[in-house]
Amino acid sequence: MARSISKDMNKAGAKTKLDHYRKALKRKAEDLRRSMSAQNAAQIVARLDVPSDEGDLSQQSHEEWIFLNRNTLDLKLLREVEDALRRIHGSSYGVCAECSEPISAKRLDAVPWAKFCVRCQEAIGAGTVPSDDE
Ligand SMILES: [Zn+2]
Repeated sequence: MARSISKDMNKAGAKTKLDHYRKALKRKAEDLRRSMSAQNAAQIVARLDVPSDEGDLSQQSHEEWIFLNRNTLDLKLLREVEDALRRIHGSSYGVCAECSEPISAKRLDAVPWAKFCVRCQEAIGAGTVPSDDE
């Protein structure tokens, strides 16, 4: 009997946790979208500001490179965040995509969009998800 009570409590706790992660993921997605559109706006302004000489031109292309690089990273992260939101809907959230083991709460708290457990992430070594130093 005690076992079923604690099971129910775990279930309720998991649901609250999931809601917490879902909110965190939505917030992160909004942040990323806002950051990308802000960068786009800055880029348009930069384009309107026509460089007056060669030195400015090379400086501008360097800034464009940084902008593209940063935007690509944001886009990549946004996709991971959206993937995690889909996993919440599909009830596969918090389970490692590689070994099917549950991902630790500590890791999910640090990286709510984590797709792999720490061990698999290290084995893959993709580096697309920030490490939480586990
Ligand atoms: Zn794993």
